[in-house]
Amino acid sequence: MINDPIQDKDTLEIEALKAADDFTALGKKIQELFRMPQSLCKQRGDCCRIATFKGTLSHDEIIRLANSDEEDAPNAKDFLSLFYPYECQEDVQTIAPVFYQKVREAEPGATFFKCRYLSDDGRCQVHEDRPTGCRVYPFPHKNTIYHPGCGFEKRGQENWKKIQDISQFFEQRLDELTRIVDGTEMLLDQTEPTP
Ligand code: SF4
Repeated sequence: MINDPIQDKDTLEIEALKAADDFTALGKKIQELFRMPQSLCKQRGDCCRIATFKGTLSHDEIIRLANSDEEDAPNAKDFLSLFYPYECQEDVQTIAPVFYQKVREAEPGATFFKCRYLSDDGRCQVHEDRPTGCRVYPFPHKNTIYHPGCGFEKRGQENWKKIQDISQFFEQRLDELTRIVDGTEMLLDQTEPTP
């Protein structure tokens, strides 16, 4: 198997930053891992033709999220400004059977959408001015479901593992620091001079 040189470089860099306890650089590394290079896109238009939001949300759930105070509300609003749901959801089973199956297995109630700016010949009609969300899509996440043959799939899955690895490192260090702070406070309480 041929190793991906970028992934190997990432792994070495992450291990070095962990060894140096460089939390700031590790935080920046997470941001970098979330932004995958658009050069990986094979420009097949699949994710514009058949999309889901946050992997598996239903149309009603997305509307509720868009109208809520939650952090993801603006993303849900942006999504709804571009995408409309398929009138007959089962049509997707014929157009993209593998993707349909994967999404339905993850969440039977998920809704499939199509972008209103996708032309019949599969081109983006607003390519030069396409929204930021389209320019940075997709984000590596455990809920991201890729179309078969998507150029982002392998990198997305590997980046997600690395993001989780860094998050676990942060949690582990936080536990250690909490124990040290608790121990120090206890010691200070015990050694407090009596008047
Ligand atoms: S605006 Fe263009 S790039 Fe974005 S989802 Fe629609 S067709 Fe695709």
